Amino acid sequence: MEVKRYRNLIDGVWQDALSGKTEKIYCPCDGALVSEVPASGVEDVERAVAAAHRAFDEGRWAFDPRLRSRCLLAWAAAMRAHHEELAVRLSLETGKPIREARFELNSSIGYVEYYAAAARTLYGTSTAVEPGLLSVLAREPSGVVAVITPWNYPITLLMRDMAPALAAGCTCVLKPATQTTGCTLEVLELLDGIAEFPKGVVNAVSGRGSVTGAALADHPDVDMISLTGGLETGRTIMQTAARTMKKVSLELGGKSPNIIFADADLDKALPFALKAIFMNAGQLCTVGSRLVLEESLVDTFLPRLKAEVEKLRPGWCLDEATDLGPVISQEQMDKILGYIESGRQCSRLITGGHRLTEGGLDKGFYIAPTILLDPPMDAKVVQEEIFGPVLVVQTFRTREEALAIANGTTYGLASAVWSRDVDKAMWVARRLRAGSAWVNCYNKLLPECETGGYKQSGMDRAGGIEGMLKYTEVKHLCIDFQ
Ligand code: NAD
Repeated sequence: MEVKRYRNLIDGVWQDALSGKTEKIYCPCDGALVSEVPASGVEDVERAVAAAHRAFDEGRWAFDPRLRSRCLLAWAAAMRAHHEELAVRLSLETGKPIREARFELNSSIGYVEYYAAAARTLYGTSTAVEPGLLSVLAREPSGVVAVITPWNYPITLLMRDMAPALAAGCTCVLKPATQTTGCTLEVLELLDGIAEFPKGVVNAVSGRGSVTGAALADHPDVDMISLTGGLETGRTIMQTAARTMKKVSLELGGKSPNIIFADADLDKALPFALKAIFMNAGQLCTVGSRLVLEESLVDTFLPRLKAEVEKLRPGWCLDEATDLGPVISQEQMDKILGYIESGRQCSRLITGGHRLTEGGLDKGFYIAPTILLDPPMDAKVVQEEIFGPVLVVQTFRTREEALAIANGTTYGLASAVWSRDVDKAMWVARRLRAGSAWVNCYNKLLPECETGGYKQSGMDRAGGIEGMLKYTEVKHLCIDFQ
């Protein structure tokens, strides 16, 4: 497999880190070296922010929605044209099965197309206050945005966070997650290749969060930070942002409940319950990591789910037959196995519970899909985000009990309820303390629709029109013409 070398993008010029330092990226399936990327320092961040600032102040980007719309559409088309090679790089860097990588790219393109159209809908309002006095509220771009992305869905989350910032007229400095820098920069190469896309509007500096990301978040000329990442990173970013009073948008972790009542369409619920937690080896912010089951289903639905889980085929990411990839790193694997061990002390292991090593999997970070039944509410496996293929099943008798279980963590990102009784399903859905409440479906993450966190799952919304308006300021223009 060819090892690809990538460079930062600053003011339209692809370049190495000034220090010349690099980081190596290895495939989590087998430890093969796949990419080498710049390890950027503070001086690279300085130059990238200066370029974004200049592009914002001097260019027409901020005031030309039609230009923005055309560039975003051309970007989506370029991604379609390079779909398979992008999918392969994405798969190799994350270890996710190639079929899931293709799915991720399709959904990423959907975000760009949506925001290409939305760029032309930045409506304001006007009010005739009194004769000769007209008040206009206009939307203006927030300025330079630092976009900081995670590794789990690196392209979709880049598009979900950066496409709306660009649509709103902002300029950006991107700091991709180190593990997925190569695939992210390949997508930016396509944007840079669009003839009318202005230089300096998008810049990218790769490197460690604690160095490159921290320098970006602290930079006085950055107007807003958009982070998708973990809770602790969110806390740090908020503290850093407070120093220069930056706007922040935070999309953080979750511990999402998937509630299934006995009167649900169980044949429909089964594949959703499976995919809700085991796609991308459980490494999705909105995974349904807590299956909240009506008690009578433990003897009927749970065995069916177990049988489906045991059919999942682990394997190399580029093998078309693979259903289950590795987790991202040794560190993450050890952490997940630690959670499983603590879960086994306080619950019943239904399946999985160990590392997978047979058939050459020992070179990667594979964990058997795991189900734990009825741990207590205060158990770590119930309260903390595991970010791996581990499902916790919690049981209830009444709708009130189901709701209390569902709302009983500090997270509030996503949730779902399954029932054929619309009254019951809506009673629960309206009371779920989460940014998304799906009824009789799961993980409907759509470009047109907002997602985001209640409680400690974040601040603000991504997706939909709200996901673009957060990158704007409201200006009051008052015209006195008496
Ligand atoms: P992470 O928080 O470790 O890293 C996210 C990004 O922040 C990376 O680019 C990282 O380099 C950077 N970073 C880390 N420390 C930083 C600092 N001090 N200053 C500035 N930047 C810093 O998260 P991760 O491991 O890449 O991703 C997994 C987490 O992301 C999970 O908690 C998951 O739930 C969450 N996530 C949330 C959503 C959502 O939409 N809510 C989506 C995907 C992932």
